[in-house]
Amino acid sequence: MVIAREPVFAFDNSYAALPQRFFARLPPTPVSGARALVLNDALARELGLDPSRLGDRATVDILSGNRVPAGAAPLAMAYAGHQFGSWVPQLGDGRAILLGEIRLPDGTRRDIQLKGAGRTPFSRMGDGRAALGPVLREYIISEAMAALGIPTTRSLAVVATGEPVYRERTLPGGILTRVARSHIRVGTFQFLAARDDTDGLRLLADHVIDRQVPDARGSASPYRVLLETVVTLQARLIASWMHVGFIHGVMNTDNMSISGETIDYGPCAFMDGYDPRQVYSSIDHAGRYAYGNQPAIGHWNLACLARALLPLLADTEDAAMTIAREVIDGYPDQFRNAYLAGLAAKLGLARSRPGDDKLAQDLLGCMAGSGADHTLTFRRLSALDIEPDHRDTDLFALFADPDRCSAWLASWRARLAHEQRGDTARRAAMRMVNPSCIPRNHLVEQALEAAVEHDDTGPFHALLSVLTAPFDERAPNDRYTRPPQPDEVVQATFCGT
Ligand code: AMP
Ligand code: MG
Repeated sequence: MVIAREPVFAFDNSYAALPQRFFARLPPTPVSGARALVLNDALARELGLDPSRLGDRATVDILSGNRVPAGAAPLAMAYAGHQFGSWVPQLGDGRAILLGEIRLPDGTRRDIQLKGAGRTPFSRMGDGRAALGPVLREYIISEAMAALGIPTTRSLAVVATGEPVYRERTLPGGILTRVARSHIRVGTFQFLAARDDTDGLRLLADHVIDRQVPDARGSASPYRVLLETVVTLQARLIASWMHVGFIHGVMNTDNMSISGETIDYGPCAFMDGYDPRQVYSSIDHAGRYAYGNQPAIGHWNLACLARALLPLLADTEDAAMTIAREVIDGYPDQFRNAYLAGLAAKLGLARSRPGDDKLAQDLLGCMAGSGADHTLTFRRLSALDIEPDHRDTDLFALFADPDRCSAWLASWRARLAHEQRGDTARRAAMRMVNPSCIPRNHLVEQALEAAVEHDDTGPFHALLSVLTAPFDERAPNDRYTRPPQPDEVVQATFCGT
């Protein structure tokens, strides 16, 4: 006798209940040779799913789009957006299918989405598919971000489709199961605003409030609270990117999440040597999304969200503009506060004092001038004693101009003398905010090459396990912590779409 099994996902969908014009209903397109490559047991547990069932044939059929599970309401979301500053009125999930939402024990929802699941009405010229390399890249970088404590969409699984995709060359296809607090973007609001669909805007805003900002319900101006919430989440998010040297690479408004999670890992990268002008993305010719521009681009994108929300903010346009301006003008300070507080923590300063910001800026100035490795500078600083000793030379080794670094170190130590906290506690706290390893581009590329070109996921899993414990102490000169050798440096990253 065959006993019917419980479905892995107990769907409870809310987005699918919104009006039809918000999305297109359609199932994923089946693939011929689905094979599970990576399964995230730890995330499954966090989501209240049974990890032992993830690799079952029946589950892999779901994760590859070959079977629509009971309770799913598959759809492609509609959105618009500013891409590199240019308005595109119609985007949408061109290669992603939202299967539905699950509820966690704490009552919050998570979207379960298949990325690379076939063509949709929003595919335009695209094939609706994803190449395996970029899918594995999103998996490893998003999981590294989560381990660093940075809000992000998560990755539950990668399946190889067994089908080719045609880019500059023929590549194996892959599908990512992406998990998000929501996939609603700044561009989702822009989509409705651009169509003068005020009823739709209100329904979408109410949906987001119910799902993510329930406290706004009791407010006299819930839509203002919604906007304020997104501003705060994004200010903190972008500050946390800056603290680890993360460059998103495509901060288009359709790639900015209302939930404050990092979303859409394309040509993103972590920088090695500190340089505010650093750009990796092969398509970012003007450096619009350079490392140091990210805070300002966040501001610009949030202004787009405010503009889209204008019809909800007040009865007259003037009054709405005043509110929008007030909220958006609050962003620079919110970003700055989050950024400087994080920098102070990276320097081991528990209580703020005048001059701390300058101390941090001076270090960054030395690093930029010296091409010092961002991650290693802070990690090696975390090991230093309040008194100078032989370990100082480990830090100096990162700087082209050790004398400047040495002068800065003296001022840092003078400042540490004002800390109440003991030196051992200070070092331990610094090691919890200054990772020893990040997904360095050359390591990621090596792991992807082995997986995609040689069908060997060993290096991928080895790197993944290092990146999921990024604050652990590692041996000096460990291959996962050291910067690339000159011949390993990755100059450009690609979105791979
Ligand atoms: P992205 O640059 O990944 O944020 O994608 C921008 C837009 O292009 C989104 O609407 C995607 O759904 C769409 N897109 C990207 N790649 C493909 C593809 N291979 N097939 C169809 N649509 C795609
Ligand atoms: Mg996108």
